[in-house]
Amino acid sequence: MPDMQQRAVNVFPAGISNGEYGLPEDKIVVMEKAHGCTLWDTAGREYLDFSMAWGSCLVGHARPEVVEAVTAQAAHGSNYAYLNTHVLALAEEIQRISPAAERLRFCASGTEATMYCQRLARAYSSKPKILKFEGAYHGANEAGVTSLFPTKTPAYPAPELTSAGTPAMADYLLVAPYNDLDRARQIITENAGDLAGVIMEPLQRCTAPLPGFLEGIRDICNETGVLLIFDEVVTGFRLAYGGAQEYYGVEPDLIAYGKAMGGGYPIGAFGGRAQIMEWVSEHRIGGDDYVWMASTLGGNPISTAAANAALGVFRREGTYERLHDLGRYLRDGLAKVLMQHQITAQIIGDGPLAQVVFSADPVFDYRSTKKGDSTKGRALMLGLFERGVFLNPMGTKLYLSVAHDEAVCDAMLERFDDTLSAID
Ligand code: PMP
Repeated sequence: MPDMQQRAVNVFPAGISNGEYGLPEDKIVVMEKAHGCTLWDTAGREYLDFSMAWGSCLVGHARPEVVEAVTAQAAHGSNYAYLNTHVLALAEEIQRISPAAERLRFCASGTEATMYCQRLARAYSSKPKILKFEGAYHGANEAGVTSLFPTKTPAYPAPELTSAGTPAMADYLLVAPYNDLDRARQIITENAGDLAGVIMEPLQRCTAPLPGFLEGIRDICNETGVLLIFDEVVTGFRLAYGGAQEYYGVEPDLIAYGKAMGGGYPIGAFGGRAQIMEWVSEHRIGGDDYVWMASTLGGNPISTAAANAALGVFRREGTYERLHDLGRYLRDGLAKVLMQHQITAQIIGDGPLAQVVFSADPVFDYRSTKKGDSTKGRALMLGLFERGVFLNPMGTKLYLSVAHDEAVCDAMLERFDDTLSAID
């Protein structure tokens, strides 16, 4: 085994530093640098990046405006764990474009942001349970990882513990099928006395909400006095500058951000109605109306300088038309190649996101996605990886960025074609 692979395997479980990938040991590579949408490993091999750091580098790798902002701040210190000019400007910008975020706070990851939203919902409502939609990921917090890849698919609303070590979820988490408004209404109504909040990815991974679904959930939450939490860690600044809230025109009570907002630097933020957010005010410590919130790296001046630079790029005329056009170009291209191979599959996604599900039937929730041929899906992902398309072979989501163009998509589609010939 080459030296780098051996070193990775000796020190990291599965040879991976930060989770996921699930690569066979002989496929592990070590990355050295990235520019735009290209990555290079330590052996000098070039990859077309269709992961973009799980979507956090929507602005592109080493985008000059971001590099300049980070470099300028780095000379003046990386963190004060306190208010600084960059975090203030970023918070004002989020407040300006995000109707749900009357007040906000910063943390260092999407996992923390969604965790705080759940904690606030529980505290504010004095109710213990959260409802999520099956198959949704809300970060590595306990609710985030439950019923993530259920295999036994228990009857709703019972959760399945995808991760060991999360026993409380069996009692405190309810699960509903995404895009099934009637079932969601029934579960929410029956449990309203115990249910603090509904957390959802407005676009669940790559599965779009059916017309009226988000509006319906909003109405049910209003009728039952249950808080609605949007996990916009992926959709924020990606589907539109104002995220899913703007794109779908539905406003939650609490909202979580991360990923793309940070221009590739560690970031998370959560916001909500002022009345709810007031619960994290330190003036309340000692009272039973106080929610603990603190984050050493939250809102640090490096990440927030990077974020302000990235947002400046996103605000440029035409950014979102371009991202949507390119997403369509990629999804159409994938569909065309599949047709040439006479393979029936569903191409899902919206904006700069795409996913291939090897299923003949439409995909609208976790169980319909699960019907797809996952062995073939895995073979496709590994085949692309071997052919120099960098992606996470565990999640079949493909991420585009501001740095991608049609030529990069064409180069990827050629490798897609080649992979299908090999695995068919
Ligand atoms: N929510 C969603 C929808 C996500 O996709 C992710 C990360 N993939 C998270 C939350 C967690 O973000 P992080 O990895 O920054 O903790």
